[in-house]
Amino acid sequence: MERGSFFDKLISLIYPDTCPYCGKIIDSGKTKCNECEKDIKCIFSVRKILGEVVCVSPYRYSGRVRTAIRKFKFRRYKRYSWNFAMEIVKSIEARFPDKKFSAVTYVPLHKYRKNDRGYNQSRLLAAEIGRKLDIPVQEFLRKIKNNSPQHRLKNLKDRVQNVKGVYEAVCRGENRDGTVILCDDIVTSGSTLVECVKMLKKAGFKDILCVTVANTVREVNENK
Ligand SMILES: [Zn+2]
Repeated sequence: MERGSFFDKLISLIYPDTCPYCGKIIDSGKTKCNECEKDIKCIFSVRKILGEVVCVSPYRYSGRVRTAIRKFKFRRYKRYSWNFAMEIVKSIEARFPDKKFSAVTYVPLHKYRKNDRGYNQSRLLAAEIGRKLDIPVQEFLRKIKNNSPQHRLKNLKDRVQNVKGVYEAVCRGENRDGTVILCDDIVTSGSTLVECVKMLKKAGFKDILCVTVANTVREVNENK
């Protein structure tokens, strides 16, 4: 749905938009309140994932951003997908103003996990990014093994091992020459994105840009 349509304005009168980071009511079309706009720094981080493939994230995973992402992911605050996606698009445009994208895809959940939660937060982000950039959202990956959640594993070796052979590419007949956006909620060790990028490359995709709402690791190339 187009933000700003008549129907949307009607909905926002009944259910006003709230700031994901503090809960205050905000004007429709704004991603956060004025105070959070001042307090929460966009870092536009660019992190190396695999070879030339990088991950762009607007935020660091801490404080109010962390709380908002956890509400989005575990407490059904699905509407935050719009606020987060707008910040992701801003980061892409700041870092790669000339890049043209052919599609957006996302890190899939295993069907059992999806049934538990009822939604895939990364897919919701991809849908909003696709709408904003006017590109199709495509399911290029499938999760074929129900592994342990990555956040339960602290050590890098275990995280890398835990995602091996877990994803497969399911794309057929698509244009593989354009740049594809691969979307997830956060990037921690990067192991999940590395594995998904490997599968997309194996399926013939030439250029991939990973995006997440937040990066848990402080990078040397961050904006000050
Ligand atoms: Zn706020």
